[in-house]
Amino acid sequence: MDRPITRRDFLNGMAIGATAAASGPLFAAPLNEPTPPAPSLPSAAQDAFGYYPPLLTGMRGSHPGSFEDAHALRDGQTWPSSFDTGEEYDLIVVGGGISGLAAAHFYRAKAPKSRILILDNHDDFGGHAKRNEFNLDGHLNLLNGGTLEIDSPRPYGPVAAGLLKTLGVDVPALVKSSQNLKFYDDLGLQAGAFFDQETFGADKLVVGLGVDGTGAVPLDILLNQAPLSARARKEIAQIETAKIDYMPGVSSDEKKQRLSRMSYEAFLRDVIRVDPAVLKFYHARTMGEWGVGTDAVSALDCWGFGMPGFQGMKIAKGSISRMGFTPAGYEDTGGSFRLHFPDGNATIARLLVRNLIPRAIPGNSAEDIVTAPVKYAQLDRPDTAVRLRLNSIVIRARHLGDPQTAKQVEITYLRGGGSYTARARGAVLACYNAMIPYLCPELPPAQKDALHKLVKAPLVYTSVALRNWQAFDQLKLYRVYAPGSYHTSLHLNAHVNVGAYRSPKSPREPILVHMVRTPCKSGLPEHEQNRAGRAELLATSFETFERNIRDQLDRTLKDGGFDPARDITAITVNRWPHGYAPEYNPLFDPDGPESERPHVVGRAQFGRIAIANSDSGGGAYTDSAINQGHRAVMELLRADKA
Ligand SMILES: Cc1cc2nc3c(=O)[nH]c(=O)nc-3n(C[C@H](O)[C@H](O)[C@H](O)COP(=O)(O)OP(=O)(O)OC[C@H]3O[C@@H](n4cnc5c(N)ncnc54)[C@H](O)[C@@H]3O)c2cc1C
Repeated sequence: MDRPITRRDFLNGMAIGATAAASGPLFAAPLNEPTPPAPSLPSAAQDAFGYYPPLLTGMRGSHPGSFEDAHALRDGQTWPSSFDTGEEYDLIVVGGGISGLAAAHFYRAKAPKSRILILDNHDDFGGHAKRNEFNLDGHLNLLNGGTLEIDSPRPYGPVAAGLLKTLGVDVPALVKSSQNLKFYDDLGLQAGAFFDQETFGADKLVVGLGVDGTGAVPLDILLNQAPLSARARKEIAQIETAKIDYMPGVSSDEKKQRLSRMSYEAFLRDVIRVDPAVLKFYHARTMGEWGVGTDAVSALDCWGFGMPGFQGMKIAKGSISRMGFTPAGYEDTGGSFRLHFPDGNATIARLLVRNLIPRAIPGNSAEDIVTAPVKYAQLDRPDTAVRLRLNSIVIRARHLGDPQTAKQVEITYLRGGGSYTARARGAVLACYNAMIPYLCPELPPAQKDALHKLVKAPLVYTSVALRNWQAFDQLKLYRVYAPGSYHTSLHLNAHVNVGAYRSPKSPREPILVHMVRTPCKSGLPEHEQNRAGRAELLATSFETFERNIRDQLDRTLKDGGFDPARDITAITVNRWPHGYAPEYNPLFDPDGPESERPHVVGRAQFGRIAIANSDSGGGAYTDSAINQGHRAVMELLRADKA
């Protein structure tokens, strides 16, 4: 850490001269054979030799060049003339995330001869379902750049579960064959908590003090190591283990009512009456799941999610029917599968792309796709029924004529400095819903108002390549909760073996570390926090991330012999300024029937334009993205028949 960062030994995320992080992919064949441009269009980046975005390091996710035109559109910029590609499709899908890809799949399933164009603003497909690929010492190492887990607070319904089946994802079988959830436990490694000097007065790593239960050492002994007052330590022990009813004499339903109207922070502060240091300790516990701290998540949701403090409260599971809403907690609603591929749900996106454009990805199973190379140059060829065009940001979606009677929709997109149009019988807008009023200004005002309310939560998933994990092994540590630090959690890559993919086994091998940062501004209403966090995130350079990552890993792991200059070989910052889709929050959102919620009002079909994306399902989950893609397609097909 004493090496000045200005001495730049990193170039866009990759250590220069590092031997552990080699530069190329591991696949035997060249990934992109040279391909002539499709007629009528200038040559595209995705057709170039060696184009392979999953290997890129540095600032990824919403990467530079992918979103600036959208912000210019929002700020009133216009693009006077467009080149008419002359292309005509049955369907154009805006947004190549899981929702848009699923929409294309469902459309083709109903209309097998249809031709579809999918446009996405990023240099890779998948939306949040992106993969980070690293070649470490000659071994393929994968991490999710965004969405990780095939899971949801609700069981997957027939549409989403049916799609997984069609794609060959046999969840129970894969859970058994691929996941080793006890890998690090079996090595004697544990969860820990890092207290930073700026927040708690001293830097201190307490190994064994995990957010998901503790190991063999009693909690009070672990807490004694923390830089906290005796009172704060006692209160944390009480929150974690004591069975106290903090609302004696109040019925279970009434408790739910009250807990739904107070934040978890207010529950700790005003009901349990804890020390301010205890609030700081718990503040980040909700960030990974909700994208904001404990001040903006209801205590009821935290109870539903199994967070501590409620074990003696005698609250019955199940929704409160007379209140008309269900807390978001897994325990309360049953939950779904728990499975993740080494690159998270990027595997679902890749399976969908293979299903739509078979020659772009070799293989035929959910196992072999994990190590299969994508031939990006095959994604947008004139002779395939489905074309996937990257680096293409849509700025306009309009009917050619009266929306009620028009037979075609025209889509305008920007790519490589040019503006282009293509036409289709219908369009699914599977992009961020809050952007749709700018694409489609003729929508009814009430619908545009509703769409504007769909503010997503910003998140950052950082992947850090390490030369080895001996420092973790030395400290007997594999995951860390760090409530005051720049990234509020970090963990060694989960041990998953699928198909030919093998996770590192020995601490001497290189590994990836996953770090999570949730930029938000506590004290404000949830969506104001999201907006402030987004502005901060977009203003933060990769160099600032790099400095903070090196500093945090150094301070957390130094007693294990970690040296950031020696041990970090590459960094990928997956920045998601528009991350989780907004969900109903009883602290800030008005009561009312589902039909009046902004995601339902906002997703109304408009002539031959239908709206998808997880935003329109009111839930930041893959099943929601899939279900909404399906609904949007069914709306269009019904309109086509009418
Ligand atoms: C960090 C993170 C972790 C997550 N973890 C999980 C998880 O573990 N499990 C889970 O089920 N869900 C998770 N989610 C939720 C995730 O958002 C959904 O599961 C799902 O991937 C959303 O898919 P989507 O297609 O609706 O949206 P997106 O993935 O956002 O796809 C929309 C696409 O449209 C593009 N687009 C936007 N505007 C335009 C335009 N004008 N022109 C062209 N393209 C445009 C976007 O850039 C994007 O590529 C996570 C989300 C994030 C951000």
